[in-house]
Amino acid sequence: MISIQNVSKQFGSMYALSHVSLEIETGEKIVIIGPSGSGKSTLIRCINGLERPTEGRIVVDGIDVTARKVDARKLYADVAMVFQDFNLYPHKTVLENVTIAPMRVQHVPREEAERSGAEYLQRVGLCDKVSEYPAKLSGGQKQRVAIARALNMHPRIILFDEPTSALDPEMIQEVLEVIKDLAKSNITMVIVTHEMGLAREAADRVVFMEAGQVVDTGTPRELFDEAKNPRIQAFLSKIL
Ligand code: ADP
Ligand code: MG
Repeated sequence: MISIQNVSKQFGSMYALSHVSLEIETGEKIVIIGPSGSGKSTLIRCINGLERPTEGRIVVDGIDVTARKVDARKLYADVAMVFQDFNLYPHKTVLENVTIAPMRVQHVPREEAERSGAEYLQRVGLCDKVSEYPAKLSGGQKQRVAIARALNMHPRIILFDEPTSALDPEMIQEVLEVIKDLAKSNITMVIVTHEMGLAREAADRVVFMEAGQVVDTGTPRELFDEAKNPRIQAFLSKIL
């Protein structure tokens, strides 16, 4: 579903990514971990075309996102992203936030976008907030709206970039529960997170990055319990 082939990304002379290769199967749940500045965000921004690698190739669901001409509409319909800081439209209601992209990008009729949007809002536990504005919501609620908004594009892939990092501790769990629930579906998920509980419960494979490189990959058990890699051990001892 996602093929990352020898990808590098330079900002000036600095390598944010250095020869990264990774194959992600349809339906797979990948958790990316690693220290700050190791290139995790850059990698997922390259997957959805927000950044362009300086070297290498990325193919997402048959779309070469590193090509000069990318079918942006198809890519946008295929790949949804959930950001650390929610990125909701402040002057739109919760339901409008969830329906605007499918209506504008995919030309889904309003009625249908609202029906499916309301269903996803119910799924993330927010069916009583449809008419509310983001400012009236807690951080955890905002992030759940952002997840419902991503789902309402009916994407084949969802990318999460530290979805709980901006949340107060008491709100992290409600968002993790939604993501864990989603991980039971057959959608392909790539999640950057420092939440090792989420990695253990949801990940088919964990990818450890450091200094722009993929240092190791394996099942959560392989990486966390049987890890012989001293760099992973050092990283885990710092965040746990
Ligand atoms: P992570 O998400 O693992 O914390 P990032 O992918 O955000 O790491 O960043 C990797 C490196 O690339 C960092 O050194 C960061 O400062 C640098 N970087 C990221 N985006 C830019 C940019 N737009 N311009 C210059 N440097 C950047
Ligand atoms: Mg980041």
